Amino acid sequence: MKKIVPNILVVDDSKAILIVMEAILNELGISNTITTCLNAKEALEKVKKDINYFDAIFTDLNMPEMDGMELIRHLGELHYQGGIIIVSEMDHKVISLAANLAKQHNAHLIGNIPKPVQLSQVSRLLIKVAQLNSHTLLKESAISKDELIDALKNDEITPFYQPKINADNNKIESVEVLARILSSKDDNIILPCRFINTAEQHNLINQITFSLFEKATSEFKNMTAQLGHDFKMAFNLSPTQLDDLNCPNKLLLILELNQLTPSNIIIEITEQHALSSLMQLETLNRLRMHGFGISLDDFGVGFTNMNQLRNLPFTEIKIDRSLISHIETDLFSQVVVSSLFNITSKDNLDLVAEGVERPEELDYLRHYRRNLAIQGFLFSRPKPQDEFISWAKDWLKTDGSPCLLYTSDAADDM
Ligand code: C2E
Ligand code: CA
Ligand code: CA
Repeated sequence: MKKIVPNILVVDDSKAILIVMEAILNELGISNTITTCLNAKEALEKVKKDINYFDAIFTDLNMPEMDGMELIRHLGELHYQGGIIIVSEMDHKVISLAANLAKQHNAHLIGNIPKPVQLSQVSRLLIKVAQLNSHTLLKESAISKDELIDALKNDEITPFYQPKINADNNKIESVEVLARILSSKDDNIILPCRFINTAEQHNLINQITFSLFEKATSEFKNMTAQLGHDFKMAFNLSPTQLDDLNCPNKLLLILELNQLTPSNIIIEITEQHALSSLMQLETLNRLRMHGFGISLDDFGVGFTNMNQLRNLPFTEIKIDRSLISHIETDLFSQVVVSSLFNITSKDNLDLVAEGVERPEELDYLRHYRRNLAIQGFLFSRPKPQDEFISWAKDWLKTDGSPCLLYTSDAADDM
């Protein structure tokens, strides 16, 4: 991935803290892109000038005039999309409340750093900022509309498969289908971050979805037969696709052709965009009524707050990678994830931890409760069908002692 130096805003009424933060950021290779403010009002004015400029805002909580909570509320109202980090000592309850409030205001609170500020902690939070941005970045390397149309014409849209594995018994619960373009002109595999936005902008996303859906569901029975193991298949849908009231019928038709039922399928909807129209809710409900599983993807970076979770027809929640990475040492993520565990177990929702890369993260997550599914490079990267099948055959043979398998995949480079 291209290295991008983030634009950082630091807000604190103590000059000393601003100096320390600046020195730490310099040490981490960030110098020309830091802005500091001694009060929240001034900070807000700077943000308003260009709402997309700052990738991250580090803010104190306790400040005269406007405090940190109020600043976060205003940032939410402005639809500020970057990451917000609180620089202040907080106990569990305060973290939980602050995270929940920020979510209600559509703000991305991604962590907290106690004072005195330490370099390692700032560095860890900056990694989270980059992860948050990876949901929206890399648009500049997007392929063009014409290139995408060519890829569709040449039938180059290809499903890659990545398992979600039950943390308790190591069974493959489901397999997520992720889009790739295998271009004849280009040896590289083209990743979705380069073409999903293009597809959404130019009304080509349905073609991608249905092409993947047809290909993957037609292979579904063969895959489960080869593995002698039943699992569900999960597909990503962009929220705008829910505006098409006919979408469920189209999916049902393809399933019927392949002698499958909606209970074999999970539809993942990203949390990044709020589900806005009534039509989207109607389609979501209809899909659920037909028996599709409905998964809320990327939970933690988007707009759904804990209360809305209860009112929407989801059967599964996927915790975004930014909350999972280094969770074993990150109090903020621990508090947010633990309240998610409480809610989902009360409402009987499946929970998936996304982007598990390190054994320490898996060990930490295993302490929570039994029915958690894990998805991540630690177990397997997304793979083309035959590679996935041979990986899964090996996996099923290991029967709960997967260390040898997963270390090699986590160490691979993309
Ligand atoms: P997503 O739905 O959140 O999918 C998970 C992404 O995280 C995948 O990226 C996967 O390769 C990556 N991932 C999984 N485990 C790990 C890990 O341990 N570490 C790291 N660093 N990454 C991990 P991918 O395949 O590049 O897809 C990116 C996004 O593109 C997807 O995020 C999804 O939002 C979108 N996308 C992919 N296929 C489709 C599709 O068919 N339709 C639509 N609408 N969106 C799609
Ligand atoms: Ca997904
Ligand atoms: Ca996700």
